[in-house]
Amino acid sequence: MKLTFPHMGNVYIAAKAFFEELGQEVIPPPRNSNKTLEIGTKYSQETICLPLKVMIGNFVETIERGADTILLTGSCGPCRYGYYSVLEKNILQDLGYDVDFVVLDPIGEGIDKLKINVYKLFNARNMKDVMEAARLGWKLIKKADYITDLSNEKRAYAINSYEVDVIMDNYYKEVENTFGAKEMMDLMDSTIEKLNKVKTKKDYYPVRIGLIGEIYTVIEPFVNLEIERKLGHMGVLVEKSLTPTIWVEHHIKSFPFGSKIERLKYELAKPYLKTGVGGHGRETVGSAIYYARRGFDGAIQLLPLNCMPEIVAKSILPKVSKDYDFPIMTLIIDEMTGEAGYMTRIEAFIDLLKRKRRKAVNE
Ligand code: SF4
Repeated sequence: MKLTFPHMGNVYIAAKAFFEELGQEVIPPPRNSNKTLEIGTKYSQETICLPLKVMIGNFVETIERGADTILLTGSCGPCRYGYYSVLEKNILQDLGYDVDFVVLDPIGEGIDKLKINVYKLFNARNMKDVMEAARLGWKLIKKADYITDLSNEKRAYAINSYEVDVIMDNYYKEVENTFGAKEMMDLMDSTIEKLNKVKTKKDYYPVRIGLIGEIYTVIEPFVNLEIERKLGHMGVLVEKSLTPTIWVEHHIKSFPFGSKIERLKYELAKPYLKTGVGGHGRETVGSAIYYARRGFDGAIQLLPLNCMPEIVAKSILPKVSKDYDFPIMTLIIDEMTGEAGYMTRIEAFIDLLKRKRRKAVNE
C-alpha cells in the first residue's frame, strides 16, 4: 500500500511521520500550488466547493508519484463533505486512475468498518497497538499545531517578522527530508528553538483577530492566501477557531461528549442557531461570540464559495456583531479570488479595528 492523503494545513507533517513510523509507505501530497488548483478545477464540477477541487489536484499529483491508496475522513449530516469520498473516487476513476479509498467514517456510522480500517492503517494486531499509535499521532498533531501557532505569535511581535517566514519555510522544506517520528520530532524541536530566538518588540499590544469559518479554508494557507502570514506581517495576532488539534480533541479524544471548549461554543451559538447546519456552521457562530467575550478586536470568517453551512452562519453573524459590538468581516474564496482585492479588504478591516481601539482609549 502506497498511502496518501489530502494536503490540509500542517496535517501532512504529522501524518507523514506517523504512518512512516507505523511502517506504511507514504507518498505525502506536495504543498498546494497553482498547479494543484488548476488540475482540480479542470476535473471537478464547476459549482462544487473549493476543498474538493484542491483535493482532486492533490490526488492526481500523488497518484502520478505512485500513490495507490487514499486516506480520507468521512462525515455525515447536511454538508457535501459526506459524499466527497464517493465523488472523488468517481472523478479519479473517470480519469483512469485505479486507487483504493480508505474512509474513516465517524464512530456513529458503525464501529466494525472503522475498526477494520484503523487496524489496516495502523498495522495493528490488537487494541494496545491502536492505542500506542493513537498516542503518537496525538503528540505529532499537537506539536505541529504548536509550531504554527508559535510562528503566528512570533510574527505579530517580531521586530523583523520576515525572519519567522524564513524559519518556517526551512521547516517545511526539511519536513520532506525526514523519515519517521523521531526525525520529525527533532526537526520540530529545532524549529521551536529557532522561533523562540526571534527578537520581539517590548510593550507591544497587537490587534487580536479570531479566524473563524470553514475548517479547510481556515487551516490551509494556500487556499486562504496565507492570511495568517499577511496578518502577522501587519503586526496582528491571529488565533484560529479550528485546528487539527481542536478537531481531534473534540471528535476523537473527548468522544462521545465533545471537548469542553467546543461544547461552550455550542451553548454560545444556541440563542442564534439551535440546530447543527452541517460542517462547522454552528461552531462559526459560537466562535465569533467566544472571541468577542475574550476581548478580541474582531473576527474574520473564511469560507469557500458555495459552502452551505457557512452561508447560514454568514447570515447570522451581522446580528452577533451588532449584539456584541464586535466587528466581523467575511471573506469568500474561490479559484478566481484575486490577491490584491483580498489584501485591500484585510487592510481596511485592520484599520477599522485600530480606529475603534483608539476611540475606546480616548473616550
Ligand atoms: S463545509 Fe462547506 S466547503 Fe466544506 S464540504 Fe461542506 S459545503 Fe463544502
